[in-house]
Amino acid sequence: KPVLAERLLGLLGRQIDIPVLKAVRSVDLSVHEGEVLGLVGESGCGKSTLGRMLTGITSPSRGELDYNGKPVTELSGQALRDFTLDVQMIFQDPYASLNPRQKVGDILAEPLRVHRITRSETETRKRVDEALREVGLDVSYRDRYPHQFSGGQRQRIGIARALIVEPRFLVCDEPIAALDVSIQAQVINLFLDLRRRRNLTYLFISHDLSVVRHIADRVAIMYLGQIVELAPAARLFAEPAHPYTRTLLEQIPSVRNRKRKFHAVKGEIPSPLKPPSGCAFHPRCAFATDRCRAEAPLPRDLTETHRVSCHLFDNN
Ligand code: SF4
Ligand code: MG
Repeated sequence: KPVLAERLLGLLGRQIDIPVLKAVRSVDLSVHEGEVLGLVGESGCGKSTLGRMLTGITSPSRGELDYNGKPVTELSGQALRDFTLDVQMIFQDPYASLNPRQKVGDILAEPLRVHRITRSETETRKRVDEALREVGLDVSYRDRYPHQFSGGQRQRIGIARALIVEPRFLVCDEPIAALDVSIQAQVINLFLDLRRRRNLTYLFISHDLSVVRHIADRVAIMYLGQIVELAPAARLFAEPAHPYTRTLLEQIPSVRNRKRKFHAVKGEIPSPLKPPSGCAFHPRCAFATDRCRAEAPLPRDLTETHRVSCHLFDNN
């Protein structure tokens, strides 16, 4: 894949800890320029924490975040500014991230002013109007307040605010989970549209595999702070390897009719603060053996692009 930098973003470390909550334990993940990487797992598995780490909002207490091949902690001056603007986040609940006392026009203008991107109010106004049009909103909306909009419109405002600084990489944390089902497809289409027009890269976080199915090029499955499977989307849906991935797939209505070898994930999700021994999935896995309870599986490559962490795929 012809990418500007082979690794646009990589979060590396055998043991990444964040202060207070060990939500993300060990992740090694690269996001390639121009792709949509879906990140899927149950709530509380550390998806959002990982997303925030990628934007630099949260720092790993161990491990390293690289941007364009350089550790983010070593960036300064223009390179740090580039990272700050290039990587933007879109939240699940746009309303919570929009200041209710600010007009939409001011909400969108703020990043331009804070980062001194525009030189005049005329230019700021022009950029605000462009951003509104780009997400399918009328420019007259700039004089209204967030509460005057529907959930879908608010999410469009959130997207416009992220886009206005011309980012290259968007971390979208459950961006459609709070929206009416009837609106979800529209917003997904907007994401796909923007990607085409702006050559954007996305990390698309969802608890629902069926949501990433239509948008992701690759999918990473996360369980208790670890990536347990990573594969191109088509491959993951056709040949899921990890028992956890297979149970997630079975929960999608359209594939429910397939022959069932697995049962829905049983039991409570263990606390990420006290993950089970060995393979963290073992208390809920139909295939768990003594080895699974004692020894954590290492990531293994099934193909050049399909990686899984499960003893079922060890040859020894
Ligand atoms: Fe199940 Fe064992 Fe594989 Fe973990 S390593 S997913 S417990 S079979
Ligand atoms: Mg979350």
